[in-house]
Amino acid sequence: MKDQSWQARADAHSFYGFTDLPTIHDRGTVVVTHGEGPYIFDTEGRKYLDANSGLWNMVAGFDHPGLIAAAQAQYARFPGYHAFFGRMSDQTVMLSEKLIEVSPFADGKVFYTNSGSEANDTMVKMLWFLHASEGKPQKRKILTRKNAYHGVTAVSASMTGKPYNSVFGLPLPGFLHLTCPHYWREGQPGETEEQFTQRLANELEATIIKEGADTIAGFFAEPVMGAGGVIPPSKGYFPAVAKILKKYDIPLISDEVICGFGRTGNTWGCETYAFMPDAIISSKNLTAGFFPMGAVILGPELSDRMQAASEAIEEFPHGFTASGHPVGCAIALKAIDVVMNEGLADNVKRLSPRLEAGLAQIAQNPNIGELRGIGYMWALEAVKDRETKTPFDGSLSVSERIANACTDQGLICRPLGQSVVLCPPFILTEPQMDQMLEKLEAALKKVF
Ligand code: PLP
Repeated sequence: MKDQSWQARADAHSFYGFTDLPTIHDRGTVVVTHGEGPYIFDTEGRKYLDANSGLWNMVAGFDHPGLIAAAQAQYARFPGYHAFFGRMSDQTVMLSEKLIEVSPFADGKVFYTNSGSEANDTMVKMLWFLHASEGKPQKRKILTRKNAYHGVTAVSASMTGKPYNSVFGLPLPGFLHLTCPHYWREGQPGETEEQFTQRLANELEATIIKEGADTIAGFFAEPVMGAGGVIPPSKGYFPAVAKILKKYDIPLISDEVICGFGRTGNTWGCETYAFMPDAIISSKNLTAGFFPMGAVILGPELSDRMQAASEAIEEFPHGFTASGHPVGCAIALKAIDVVMNEGLADNVKRLSPRLEAGLAQIAQNPNIGELRGIGYMWALEAVKDRETKTPFDGSLSVSERIANACTDQGLICRPLGQSVVLCPPFILTEPQMDQMLEKLEAALKKVF
């Protein structure tokens, strides 16, 4: 007889992406039925504290009544529409006004997508479009960093600086990856953090000169690298990079898919790291994970140039069926209100020192090489030898082993490279934070 367990049914007809298959074969899939606050529940009745916030996005938890009500009301009123052909929903108009109001920009315009990948893809097409319209069709190369994550579409995967994309024959030509600004791993012996930052700034300038500024369409960066393993920039990195990009007239795009709306303790990561981008890429927290949606938020200068480029051929020929979906926009309006006005962003500011202190205690474990992060995004990197920073070997990565031990404790956290990542929802209470830290500590004791 066919195995009718949820795990077997999941295996039979669902194709797993970004999933360690040996772990699944060994442990089975966790099939999730529902959530309450920061907790999720599976088909076996087990309860887990989700320190992964879904995938960085469920910042208000899994059952926020205000977000559910906003979705229900808009579904009842007007369930779906696009934002082109000369039509868009009232919710879309209001969300664009709100996004510009809360953005670091004095003015600007918003373009909607269904995901962060599509928002990055869209931004690249916008840059290609406007440079070509301004008489520079060769200004097409995209600069990003090694270890960056910008998505999975062919273009955003090309921007992503992860070696796994080579299985697809990516990156596409013209996508260049600079050094990751991770001082602990990338710093040379005897090099200070300031010298490291200067070396990376020099590398950027040398690359621009070698390639030719007139061949480079833009530079994209996450304020804190998320899927790269939570890597805050080295000291002074963004101001140094921004100055060089300005000098060579290369737009700086801040990919705030993770950092946006409070994750680093301020509304935007660019605020936390003191730089002014030319555009912002947003998704995830934008709807608190209650709707798949992304947005390109153009600052005033790129907005005007994009408008002029579009006027020149009478349209910007790009858009998705569900761009500016009214339910997504209604949810995003509510999510922004919830995060900014219901104390969620304040929680991150107020409680992140407590989180850092708790993690610092745990990081005293001799097999933890580095604790790094800011706000509500942290990583503990495991090492075989702390002095030499030697990574563990073995077929199942150490982070996978830690994450599995966490799952056994009823804690969801994410293995990334040699690190285990915690990015809890902003609604986490102090007792829940303590519970999360206790479970993590117990899991680490099982592994080391
Ligand atoms: N950019 C960043 C910084 C991300 O972290 C992600 C997803 O994790 C993306 C882009 C891609 O977003 P999506 O998965 O919605 O396509």
